Amino acid sequence: MSILLAGKLALVTGAGSGIGREVCRVLAREGANVVAADQNIKTAQETVASLTGTEHIALHINVEDRSSVETAFKDVTKQFSKPPTIIVNSAGIVRNTLLMKHDDSNFDDIINVNLKGTFLVMQTAVKAMIEGNATKNSSIINISSIAARGRHIGVSTYSASKAGVIAMTKTASLEFGQFGIRVNAVLPGFIDTPMTADISDEEREMFKKNVSLQRTGKPEEVAEVIVFLASDRSSYINGASIEVTGGLN
Ligand code: NAP
Repeated sequence: MSILLAGKLALVTGAGSGIGREVCRVLAREGANVVAADQNIKTAQETVASLTGTEHIALHINVEDRSSVETAFKDVTKQFSKPPTIIVNSAGIVRNTLLMKHDDSNFDDIINVNLKGTFLVMQTAVKAMIEGNATKNSSIINISSIAARGRHIGVSTYSASKAGVIAMTKTASLEFGQFGIRVNAVLPGFIDTPMTADISDEEREMFKKNVSLQRTGKPEEVAEVIVFLASDRSSYINGASIEVTGGLN
């Protein structure tokens, strides 16, 4: 069996839970060294403890805070003597509220984590790659959402933040391609993770009816696509937004 990512260093945000945790598992399976970064260091450590291989670390990061992001990249680059060249932005939050009931602090929280966080991590990562002369065959994968298409009630700000991630991904791909850094977005549908655990059975059933595969997705089904995008197997995919929804109508 070929190993896709031997010798690569990857940094995953939101690595303590759900999709981020599964991404770490598949990256490690493919031979990458993994930095599991999350605001919750305990869950990030649990992720690391579950990985195959040895050169993985857990790291605290608050993606909405520039100094936290810069410190995280500085520490990783020092510890591994090189910057990570695979970056997966999985940290994210959602708050289900009708637009008319949405207050300013909810709005700011969602935009700050989902959109500003993606911006800060991309900017800091690319700076570190350029400084470390490590841009060639690098890959950034941003997790957006099918909600970016704006078809769901109650998630107006979340949808806007995720549409912003798609637009920012596309622009970043135009700016970074010259260095050999690819940037792509993944748009998951309904995936069974702690983020969706509170959704009622009724809503879940309604959602499944709109999916041609008639089921919700598993985090590993998103992780496999992300790891493909991280690898040279996807070397000519750049600026793309790939839906992983089971065929949502
Ligand atoms: P999850 O299980 O809730 O995991 C998200 C992780 O991000 C958690 O560990 C969370 O920590 C962490 N996080 C939150 N804010 C952070 C911050 N400021 N800095 C660093 N880490 C932070 O969610 P998931 O389902 O895996 O979602 C992963 C990504 O996929 C998100 O961007 C989400 O929007 C997107 N997505 C998910 C679905 C789905 O159906 N699950 C569908 C489409 C898109 P805490 O636990 O401490 O909050």
